[in-house]
Amino acid sequence: MKIYSPIQQLKHPSRINIWVKRDDLIDPYISGNKWRKLKYILEEAKNLKKDHLVTFGGAYSNHLVATAAACAGNGLKSTAFVRGEAVENEMLLLCRLFGMRLIFTDRRDYKEKDKLFRRHFAEDSCAFFVDEGGAGIAAVKGCAELIAELPPDIDHLFCAAGTGTTAAGLLKGILESGSKTILHVVPVLKGGDFIADEIARYTGSSDQLILHTDYHFGGYGKTQPGLISFIKRFVAEEGMLIDPVYTAKLFFAIDDLVKKQYFKTTDKIAAVHTGGLLGIWGMKEKFRGDG
Ligand SMILES: *Cc1c(COP(=O)(O)O)cnc(C)c1O
Repeated sequence: MKIYSPIQQLKHPSRINIWVKRDDLIDPYISGNKWRKLKYILEEAKNLKKDHLVTFGGAYSNHLVATAAACAGNGLKSTAFVRGEAVENEMLLLCRLFGMRLIFTDRRDYKEKDKLFRRHFAEDSCAFFVDEGGAGIAAVKGCAELIAELPPDIDHLFCAAGTGTTAAGLLKGILESGSKTILHVVPVLKGGDFIADEIARYTGSSDQLILHTDYHFGGYGKTQPGLISFIKRFVAEEGMLIDPVYTAKLFFAIDDLVKKQYFKTTDKIAAVHTGGLLGIWGMKEKFRGDG
């Protein structure tokens, strides 16, 4: 299937050497890396004659919306175990619209995903287990394909990381292509050093990999006033939406490294816009007012 994910140059004078791979434009609901992660999961499910994807996520999970939309578009059923007590929000509304069944699950039970799956779906031979965030080899394979869509002369490729699966795929693609591109990963959670191991688990190597672990702004889903004002400025300057959970931390990191003269002036820098723009609805109150 042909996808729409152009590579565009940023506009602001301080960002002229920076290009963005617009995976956010692939689909409004199966956005960015979630589309790439699901591609081979859907294929595998179909090959195994499974017609029902069962997966896991928090109440503001991009992965849940993406899975619900992708399943609906491929004639599959979907169910999600949603972490925590029952709530309603914009993301879960979309999940339901795409036909996903939601099972709210307390945090202790949620940790034992295999057990949950077996307890509810042992009888359903057409149910297919998809890990939280779609993590796994199929997801890595899908993300690795992005590299072949980039110009070959990129010196530095940046992405945001939650689990590191997407980054693992990108590094795999880089190493297999033999290009000199260095992958820079910005963990959006605190203590993101573990992501290097997670990546190496899939690639067998941490060559051409650099982690920038100081741009988490307090942790996963956390923001600070500096990040919010950065988002407002960036979106207005570039005409490109970014989200507070993932891509804002990524672009903040790049701006900061440019300011610190981390790059050579001739370096070609690119960032993967991994989508996730619905995440902004989880933080509406942070954007009120003109400040
Ligand atoms: C899920 C998500 C990520 C994180 O991907 P991982 O493979 O878990 O590291 C990054 N960006 C966006 C927008 C996401 O929705």
